[in-house]
Amino acid sequence: MNIFKKRVFALLAVGVILFSLPSMEVKRKENKPARKVILMIGDGMGIAQAYAAWTVNHGFLNMFSCPFTGLCLTSSAGDYITDSAAGATAFATGEKTKNGYLSMDTAGHPLTTIVEIAEQRRLATGLVATSALTHATPAAFVSHQMGRNDYENIAADFLKTDVDVLIGGGADHFRKRKDGKDLTAELARKGYALAFSIEEADKVTAGKLAAFTAAEHTPKFSEGRGNMLPRAVEIALRLLSQDKNGFFLMVEGSQIDWGNHANDADYVINETMDFDRAVGVALDFARKDGNTLLVILADHESGGLTITGGNVKNAEVKTHFSTHDHTPVPVPVYAYGPGAEKFTGVYENTEVFRKIKSFLGI
Ligand code: MG
Ligand code: ZN
Repeated sequence: MNIFKKRVFALLAVGVILFSLPSMEVKRKENKPARKVILMIGDGMGIAQAYAAWTVNHGFLNMFSCPFTGLCLTSSAGDYITDSAAGATAFATGEKTKNGYLSMDTAGHPLTTIVEIAEQRRLATGLVATSALTHATPAAFVSHQMGRNDYENIAADFLKTDVDVLIGGGADHFRKRKDGKDLTAELARKGYALAFSIEEADKVTAGKLAAFTAAEHTPKFSEGRGNMLPRAVEIALRLLSQDKNGFFLMVEGSQIDWGNHANDADYVINETMDFDRAVGVALDFARKDGNTLLVILADHESGGLTITGGNVKNAEVKTHFSTHDHTPVPVPVYAYGPGAEKFTGVYENTEVFRKIKSFLGI
């Protein structure tokens, strides 16, 4: 290229850049990628539960590949040791409340949840659990009750919201009720596709889904739950990602806690490994998507689990529980994706709500 040609070429290049600047600006705004959040709660999953599962899984967990980690303080309002209702309320509303309360403040007034805010802002929302959907952790995201065991009123609260995807147990609280109502029929009238197994749920390719995988709680992994949880995450992501406004999805590995209460190490490890396979599905989605924030944490530790010996090569672990209850120790947080760096440090469980809300810009 001679000097003249070079100059003409440079001028042309500048012209092209100047000409295209305004349109590029508009285009960027129009194509601003929708933000998505997947919040995964391993109920009762402290660092010992995760490390025991890592050991039995031959030194691998998906959650350990998250580049950002932090510690979450878990106390509830007035209690050093939280229960799962107050713990989930803190994540869902940014407020500490009394143990047993579901998204109600300590004076008994309802608190707006992240799911309700997301719905107002026209984002898609979803809840997935291996317990009944009416159980404390998923319930706190949509229900406002002062009694976490008030399952029939909690089920009725699900009709007052517009969560797009529901996958979990608890069918009986919706259709075998003292008031004789069949709330699953009301869900169908609201436009939900109904499913009563994970296989049926998998056939739903668009729209709203209410999938009940059990009358009460979905079975233990060791008693035939199969790949319900990872598959539920896959289904939820397939449906929610069709919304151009983005989404908020909460996924709970509900039964890690129940293994802790029973001081049953095999139960804890099986449930944690299954939860981690669901994390793998979410991580794959987040890696491909690029605008998804994935946060994996626990509402509290339970069992006071310690590891007293083990062998990664032989996938053996020796465990010791110190209580049948919850404990107050901070729990690890693992984060991946844009905004994940905000989850480093040591912070209160209520901050999780604010960090997610600010990432979603709502
Ligand atoms: Mg729970
Ligand atoms: Zn518990």
